[in-house]
Amino acid sequence: MGKNVLVIAEKREENLRNVTFEVLSAAKKVAAGGTVTAVLFEDNGKGDIDKLAYFGADKVYSLSNEKLKEYTPDAYSQALTQVIEVVKPDAILWGHTGIGRDLAPRVASRLNLGLISDCVDLKVQGEEVTFVRPIYAGKAFQEKRIKTGTIFATIRPNNIAIEEPDTSRVAEVVDLEADIKDLRTVIKDVVRKTAGSVDLTEAKIIVSGGRGVKSAEGFKPLYELATTLGGAVGASRGACDAGYCDYALQVGQTGKVVTPDLYIACGISGAVQHLAGMSNSKIIVAINKDPEAPIFRVADYGIVGDLFEVLPLLNEEFSKI
Ligand code: FAD
Repeated sequence: MGKNVLVIAEKREENLRNVTFEVLSAAKKVAAGGTVTAVLFEDNGKGDIDKLAYFGADKVYSLSNEKLKEYTPDAYSQALTQVIEVVKPDAILWGHTGIGRDLAPRVASRLNLGLISDCVDLKVQGEEVTFVRPIYAGKAFQEKRIKTGTIFATIRPNNIAIEEPDTSRVAEVVDLEADIKDLRTVIKDVVRKTAGSVDLTEAKIIVSGGRGVKSAEGFKPLYELATTLGGAVGASRGACDAGYCDYALQVGQTGKVVTPDLYIACGISGAVQHLAGMSNSKIIVAINKDPEAPIFRVADYGIVGDLFEVLPLLNEEFSKI
């Protein structure tokens, strides 16, 4: 019979985030022949509805309201609750993004639902859906199932393979003017620090620097390599605390959790709190002067050397490709 699955589509700087397509692929598995419905906030007419259909949405709820133009947990949770009450999904899936982390627990609490957060995989066996999520800072994995009521889960970016889009698919569109009452939050201005750059949590390649980079200026070769590889720059807390870069770049237990295809750690010792944010990367390359640095224990490839000598060489070679 299949399940009725709701997916929350998320945008960053006007474009649908990659994780939305990953979640749609997961939703198709969970739906198992049922219906996949996507919720889109403020359609900007740039073909988002088409893209949602190509990647698996059968139906799209296109929400509009002035109060949804900028994200506020208050407005978005009111709007989402309305859609959920209309759609009555068997399962709700969402990216484990900044907004997903902020909003999913609020919506779950409003609707009295259980929530499995930060999943990296899922298995569907008949009616049963099992979610896999890391615990103990990525040292072990836990399997979780919601046995009664609506399944609600958030999915970590860069973990579910996106299925090939089918450009012949067309979704049924439902326009809905969300009814949003008494907001406690008013957004007066939005200052985006990282406009135009690759989002760290969705980046396929991250070049990350630690205290070994020694200064803000020292990050220049990391940015050069990241640009050549089409990736993003990350940092350890050591580098952020030392003022070499913004805390928005921090990877780790108290920073961002990333799962890129390639993580290049430069001048990072590999403290357990840093590993918590990147040890599930598919390939880890470590560049460190100290052959005993703990980062080499998790690295697939290790380069013992001075990052200021190694990075320009890597950049030169990758520039040729
Ligand atoms: P260091 O440990 O000082 O390592 C610098 C490395 O650079 C050394 O291994 C050195 O050999 C190498 N090096 C020096 N010069 C060069 C060179 N020229 N070329 C190559 N290598 C060189 N840390 C995080 O990263 N993220 C977190 O989210 C985080 N959360 C934390 C939460 C808590 C509650 C606590 C207590 C700590 C947290 N930390 C976190 C801090 C963590 O414990 C470490 O202090 C931090 O990760 C160290 O940063 P680092 O590796 O850059 O610096």
